[in-house]
Amino acid sequence: MHETGLCDEIVRAVLRRAGKRRVAAVRVRATFAGHEADPEVVEQGFRVAAAGTPAQDARVELVTEPPAVSCRGCGAKTPAADALALVACPRCGGVDVELSGDTEVVVESISYQPDALTSEVPR
Ligand SMILES: [Zn+2]
Repeated sequence: MHETGLCDEIVRAVLRRAGKRRVAAVRVRATFAGHEADPEVVEQGFRVAAAGTPAQDARVELVTEPPAVSCRGCGAKTPAADALALVACPRCGGVDVELSGDTEVVVESISYQPDALTSEVPR
Protein backbone atom coordinates (compact mmCIF):
# COMPACT_ATOMS: atom_id res chain seq x y z
CA MET A 1 0.00 0.00 0.00
CA HIS A 2 1.17 3.49 -0.79
CA GLU A 3 0.79 4.79 2.74
CA THR A 4 3.06 2.14 4.22
CA GLY A 5 6.24 3.53 2.72
CA LEU A 6 5.07 6.96 3.70
CA CYS A 7 4.63 5.93 7.32
CA ASP A 8 8.08 4.37 7.41
CA GLU A 9 9.42 7.71 6.30
CA ILE A 10 7.46 9.60 8.92
CA VAL A 11 8.61 7.27 11.69
CA ARG A 12 12.21 7.51 10.54
CA ALA A 13 12.03 11.30 10.55
CA VAL A 14 10.43 11.34 13.99
CA LEU A 15 12.96 8.98 15.51
CA ARG A 16 15.84 10.91 14.05
CA ARG A 17 14.64 13.97 15.93
CA ALA A 18 13.39 12.27 19.07
CA GLY A 19 16.48 10.24 19.84
CA LYS A 20 15.67 8.25 22.96
CA ARG A 21 12.83 10.47 24.12
CA ARG A 22 9.41 8.91 24.21
CA VAL A 23 7.14 10.53 21.68
CA ALA A 24 3.67 11.58 22.83
CA ALA A 25 2.34 13.15 19.67
CA VAL A 26 3.42 13.92 16.17
CA ARG A 27 2.02 16.52 13.87
CA VAL A 28 2.57 15.74 10.23
CA ARG A 29 1.77 17.97 7.31
CA ALA A 30 1.40 16.17 4.02
CA THR A 31 0.76 17.23 0.49
CA PHE A 32 -0.76 14.52 -1.58
CA ALA A 33 -1.00 14.62 -5.29
CA GLY A 34 -3.56 12.54 -7.03
CA HIS A 35 -5.21 10.87 -4.10
CA GLU A 36 -6.52 11.61 -0.67
CA ALA A 37 -4.81 10.11 2.31
CA ASP A 38 -7.00 8.49 4.88
CA PRO A 39 -5.79 9.73 8.27
CA GLU A 40 -6.81 6.44 9.88
CA VAL A 41 -4.79 4.44 7.42
CA VAL A 42 -1.81 6.70 8.01
CA GLU A 43 -2.15 6.43 11.77
CA GLN A 44 -2.41 2.66 11.58
CA GLY A 45 0.57 2.49 9.30
CA PHE A 46 2.47 4.73 11.67
CA ARG A 47 1.71 2.40 14.54
CA VAL A 48 2.95 -0.61 12.61
CA ALA A 49 6.09 1.20 11.49
CA ALA A 50 6.75 2.57 14.98
CA ALA A 51 6.20 -0.66 16.88
CA GLY A 52 9.01 -1.28 19.32
CA THR A 53 10.37 2.25 19.02
CA PRO A 54 10.00 5.22 21.41
CA ALA A 55 7.33 6.51 19.05
CA GLN A 56 5.02 3.52 19.26
CA ASP A 57 2.45 5.21 21.52
CA ALA A 58 2.48 8.51 19.72
CA ARG A 59 -0.70 10.15 18.63
CA VAL A 60 -0.57 11.12 14.99
CA GLU A 61 -2.12 14.32 13.84
CA LEU A 62 -2.25 14.45 10.09
CA VAL A 63 -2.78 17.72 8.32
CA THR A 64 -3.31 17.25 4.63
CA GLU A 65 -2.92 19.95 2.06
CA PRO A 66 -3.84 19.96 -1.56
CA PRO A 67 -0.93 20.02 -3.96
CA ALA A 68 0.15 23.36 -5.34
CA VAL A 69 -0.54 24.60 -8.80
CA SER A 70 2.04 26.90 -10.29
CA CYS A 71 1.25 29.31 -13.05
CA ARG A 72 3.76 29.80 -15.81
CA GLY A 73 2.12 33.07 -16.74
CA CYS A 74 2.43 35.07 -13.53
CA GLY A 75 4.40 32.72 -11.32
CA ALA A 76 1.69 32.41 -8.69
CA LYS A 77 1.62 29.28 -6.61
CA THR A 78 -1.82 28.40 -5.38
CA PRO A 79 -3.10 25.37 -3.54
CA ALA A 80 -5.31 23.27 -5.76
CA ALA A 81 -8.18 23.50 -3.34
CA ASP A 82 -10.83 23.29 -5.97
CA ALA A 83 -11.00 21.86 -9.42
CA LEU A 84 -11.03 25.29 -11.02
CA ALA A 85 -7.49 26.05 -9.87
CA LEU A 86 -6.33 23.06 -11.87
CA VAL A 87 -7.69 24.59 -15.03
CA ALA A 88 -6.89 28.28 -14.74
CA CYS A 89 -4.74 30.45 -12.51
CA PRO A 90 -6.90 32.19 -9.88
CA ARG A 91 -4.65 35.24 -9.99
CA CYS A 92 -4.23 36.04 -13.66
CA GLY A 93 -6.70 33.66 -15.22
CA GLY A 94 -4.00 32.09 -17.36
CA VAL A 95 -4.41 28.49 -18.36
CA ASP A 96 -0.73 27.63 -18.49
CA VAL A 97 -0.78 26.03 -15.07
CA GLU A 98 1.08 23.03 -13.80
CA LEU A 99 0.26 20.74 -10.94
CA SER A 100 3.23 19.85 -8.84
CA GLY A 101 3.14 16.09 -8.68
CA ASP A 102 5.07 15.57 -5.52
CA THR A 103 3.97 13.90 -2.36
CA GLU A 104 5.54 15.93 0.34
CA VAL A 105 5.59 15.01 3.99
CA VAL A 106 6.85 17.32 6.69
CA VAL A 107 7.05 16.50 10.35
CA GLU A 108 5.87 19.77 11.81
CA SER A 109 6.17 19.18 15.50
CA ILE A 110 6.83 16.45 18.00
CA SER A 111 5.82 16.46 21.62
CA TYR A 112 7.45 14.20 24.13
CA GLN A 113 6.27 12.42 27.18
CA PRO A 114 7.78 13.68 30.41
CA ASP A 115 10.07 10.84 31.40
CA ALA A 116 9.63 11.31 35.12
CA LEU A 117 5.94 10.58 34.87
CA THR A 118 5.82 7.66 32.49
CA SER A 119 6.86 5.02 35.01
CA GLU A 120 4.43 6.16 37.68
CA VAL A 121 1.21 6.81 35.80
CA PRO A 122 -1.34 4.21 36.91
CA ARG A 123 -3.35 2.56 34.18
ZN1 LIG B 1 -1.21 33.26 -13.14
